[in-house]
Amino acid sequence: MITVEHLSKRYGDVLAVDDLSFTIEDGHIYGFLGPNGAGKSTTLNIITGCLAATSGEIKIDGHDIYEEEREAKRLIGYLPEIPPLYIDQTPREYLQFVAEAKGISKSEREAEIDRVIEETHITEMQNRLIKHLSKGYRQRVGIAQALLGNPSVIILDEPTVGLDPMQIIEIRDLIAELGKKHTVILSSHILSEIQAICEKVLIIYKGKLVAFDNIENLGKSMAQGNEIEIISSGEPENTVEVLEKLAAIESYQHIQTDDGFNSFRLTTRQGNPYEICKVLFMTFAANNIPLVKLNPIQTTLEDIFIELTSDDEMDSYQDTDSISTAEEMQQVEQEAR
Ligand code: ADP
Ligand code: MG
Repeated sequence: MITVEHLSKRYGDVLAVDDLSFTIEDGHIYGFLGPNGAGKSTTLNIITGCLAATSGEIKIDGHDIYEEEREAKRLIGYLPEIPPLYIDQTPREYLQFVAEAKGISKSEREAEIDRVIEETHITEMQNRLIKHLSKGYRQRVGIAQALLGNPSVIILDEPTVGLDPMQIIEIRDLIAELGKKHTVILSSHILSEIQAICEKVLIIYKGKLVAFDNIENLGKSMAQGNEIEIISSGEPENTVEVLEKLAAIESYQHIQTDDGFNSFRLTTRQGNPYEICKVLFMTFAANNIPLVKLNPIQTTLEDIFIELTSDDEMDSYQDTDSISTAEEMQQVEQEAR
């Protein structure tokens, strides 16, 4: 179990991590999601004892990361955003070096290296120079070093960045396998990646925790959209007259009139959106106004992520060449045409 209490980190004027508190329980795969610059790497570097916090307390299974550094660090395997690989070594040589640094006794070292090589499927590559390996294999070597010493928690900072789609799938499968034996924290700025692998997700934005829940719960709380789009074929005034009478409608907005068809966006009160649609249908029919479109707007996980992590200052936080959402992806594709 990892407990983080009131963690803050300041780099000069930049408050990179702002009073974060959360608990990571054993035995799950956690997603640490946030746009670039949100503070993910800073947080993970602090949790793993690689960077000092400005304030706050971190305990790994009860061991304070500063006061009982050795005990705490032994429980965590970390693959940083930029893996510290020595490219003129072979994976085996590199793992020998890391195993020694981690204090794994000489008698256990080779067996432990064999174990992590097998677990990360790099047996064939273990005696080639790292500089001749693909990025996907290098990432596996990075994961292998994190696994040395069999720590209970594995922390991976954006492990699929820069990989091609096939390599991404392979690394995802590997992470899912690791999740069976370890608690895993996986950071990413890509929602679909977190959705694909993680059971629980922490969303961080500007150094603050903005959501922490099971993926399903987040999905559920979001699926209850309370907006409905309608297109009526009556006059706008008549449509408004009917809407005014409906208790389930909190507010409405006339979007446009097009060839005698009026589109409105309605905000409803609490309730099943489909039940409200039924009432709308019947009421408009009774008033002789045909509705030609009746569409509850479902909020997706992606909408929530965008809502939680966007505002006017977003641009200064986002690398221009990185894509976080399908929407951005579409935009980029459109621009490319
Ligand atoms: P993420 O991993 O979510 O992209 P980071 O933790 O790398 O975010 O960065 C959080 C914020 O801290 C950003 O505004 C970044 O520019 C700033 N930052 C990160 N590292 C340093 C550093 N060594 N010195 C100054 N500012 C930094
Ligand atoms: Mg980062």
